[in-house]
Amino acid sequence: MKFPMPREYRHIRPIDTVWYGNPQLKEGLSVPEITIKYGSLSSRIKTMPSYAKYLLGSLRELAKAVKSIKRNPYTSNKTLSAEGLAEIEAVAQGLGISGIGYTKVKETHLFKESIVLFKYAMVFTVEMKKTAIEQAPSKKTIQEIFRTYYELGRAVNLISDFLREKGFNAQAIPAIGSNLNLTVMARDAGLGGFGKNGLLITPDYGPSVRLAAVLTDIENLPVNQRLDYDWLPDFCATCHACVKKCPAQAIYEKPMICKDGSEQHIDYKKCAVPFSKQHGCTVCIKECAFFKSDYKKIAAAYIRKEKAAK
Ligand code: SF4
Ligand code: SF4
Repeated sequence: MKFPMPREYRHIRPIDTVWYGNPQLKEGLSVPEITIKYGSLSSRIKTMPSYAKYLLGSLRELAKAVKSIKRNPYTSNKTLSAEGLAEIEAVAQGLGISGIGYTKVKETHLFKESIVLFKYAMVFTVEMKKTAIEQAPSKKTIQEIFRTYYELGRAVNLISDFLREKGFNAQAIPAIGSNLNLTVMARDAGLGGFGKNGLLITPDYGPSVRLAAVLTDIENLPVNQRLDYDWLPDFCATCHACVKKCPAQAIYEKPMICKDGSEQHIDYKKCAVPFSKQHGCTVCIKECAFFKSDYKKIAAAYIRKEKAAK
């Protein structure tokens, strides 16, 4: 059964130039789709009242994001002043955004069903609050997960509207139902690196963030040129906490390489069972060294140890 997620197809106009995902790429399933296909829908429905308002809010924001592409102004303005960028970042921060990075959209960010209108991306993180994640799995945790899905959906729609008012084009990519690989996109935007748990590990909040993006045709965004997180896989090789604590043995010791060349860190069919039965699980975030301790301290200790070993 395929969950009918809203998609942009019906709202594309002749003026739009669309980059569709290659059919050879892997499928990008949303959380509701994974739950329906591989998890326990009945358990999920039973626990839904605790977070239903955020789930419904997130789906409303997804529907808005998809429809709003019809309002792109196509003014041909493709450059942004430093003041304009600062203004957008201030708007984003006012909407609760914790981190912002910029990247060019690449083939490696696409799934087979991706619909990309613009080739530059503003990528956003929102922190999931520590007090809620520490209680995982719990009602508080799943409420926090869906609160951040909702907040990000709302934020990327408002940021897209703000860009359109300024004469720029935008395509909001909310956290729930996104048809782009937001973790790879956030890594390329310089917001963090991959942990063994397949999550983005950020310097400020470790893996305790959700992601969303706004695509645009602004051509002079300060796109990230460096990837500073190469040491994370080596550190993860000495840790394994998420692998050991995952109740479904869903985290691979080494990422699986998919047919399209992309990496997969989690067996999401296995993950879907505790995720749907146990309030969104989230044990792999709660048990992560970068959630329990400070990123900068871990990095400094790791670098000291590496130097001493040479
Ligand atoms: S959410 Fe739970 S089941 Fe899924 S990978 Fe993380 S720890 Fe494992
Ligand atoms: S728990 Fe350990 S191995 Fe897993 S992602 Fe976090 S640091 Fe890496």
